[in-house]
Amino acid sequence: MATPENRTIALDPTGERAEHRKLVIVGSGPAGFTAALYAARAELDVLVLRGPEPGGQLTLTPDIENYPGFPDGLTGFELMDKMEAQAKRFGAEVRYGEVSDLDLTRRPYRMVVDGETEISADAVILSTGASARYLGLANERRLLGKGVSACATCDGAFFRDVELAVVGGGDTAMEEALFLTRFATKVTVIHRRDEFRASKILQQRVFAHPKIEVLWNHRVEDILGEERVDGLALEDTQTGSKQQLPVGGVFIAIGHQPNTNLVRDTLALDAAGYLLTEPGSTRTSLPGVFACGDVQDSIYRQAITAAGTGAMAALDAERWLAEQGAEANQETTEPAIGRLEEMAVSAA
Ligand code: NAP
Repeated sequence: MATPENRTIALDPTGERAEHRKLVIVGSGPAGFTAALYAARAELDVLVLRGPEPGGQLTLTPDIENYPGFPDGLTGFELMDKMEAQAKRFGAEVRYGEVSDLDLTRRPYRMVVDGETEISADAVILSTGASARYLGLANERRLLGKGVSACATCDGAFFRDVELAVVGGGDTAMEEALFLTRFATKVTVIHRRDEFRASKILQQRVFAHPKIEVLWNHRVEDILGEERVDGLALEDTQTGSKQQLPVGGVFIAIGHQPNTNLVRDTLALDAAGYLLTEPGSTRTSLPGVFACGDVQDSIYRQAITAAGTGAMAALDAERWLAEQGAEANQETTEPAIGRLEEMAVSAA
């Protein structure tokens, strides 16, 4: 995601040089393309901006076996190609481009794409996703998809009858470790401290599970293996002593980062930084701005749930645009900050 520092042109306050669209969808994962499909079928003039990671996190997943309708499974790339083709079939325009500035202070909303093109929109759907946090090791990136994963639900079934490791001490790490016991012979949870931050109930399940061992006060120094992961180099954070742990795969569960750089000062976020939407809808704290997929979901984070909220966002946007009618192009009258505060309070 671009940061405001990446801007190369300033937004034109008159909006006169902007290309105008009825609906712009920012982000091209399963949420964005499903929103595009629904919006295009509703005959809205819809533009999808792919963003910095076209296809989103799913393109990091070599095999998807849990997306309904594909009993033989398919790759993340294949699924995203199909979703894009389906959206285009009904008239959605899809463009490479990263939004480098987004002005939501008045309508029509305006954005700069790739630092050079200005686009205005009556309604905006944000489907910018979230990015898994990684340890930042060179071999972690090299072995991603070859034994390194950040999603047990996506990839766990490919690790049958091997020993695995999970890094982290939060709810996600506990859930991933428990899930992986279905396939692995043993799961070692590696945590950098001597206590978990996870909820007590999940901790108890982890402690009670005969296949799970916890390695406290250790950090992963390196991930080992040529073609695939075959072990971890670990350091004891208390004593500095080193050891190698042979494992066939490692799941990094140290949190996710929702991609909200563009809107963190203009839309209401929850305490973890995810976009807040009104319960039962995809409406954000600003009228005509909708959010779907992982950027507003810290809990489920599945391709199918992202696609579901993408459909909701398109339906919400379509209804909102219809309600606005000819007034969609008018300046915002609702004070953004008031709504933002109201939503933040109700989320607390
Ligand atoms: P989290 O709660 O932020 O936990 C991240 C864990 O990773 C922490 O234990 C942290 O260690 C560790 N960590 C962070 N950076 C690290 C690094 N560089 N090296 C090693 N370890 C590192 O993230 P999460 O578990 O993904 O949960 C995110 C949110 O979603 C939480 O609010 C959680 O409750 C929620 N969630 C809920 C459920 C559920 O209710 N079923 C399931 C999943 C997630 P420290 O503890 O030392 O900081």
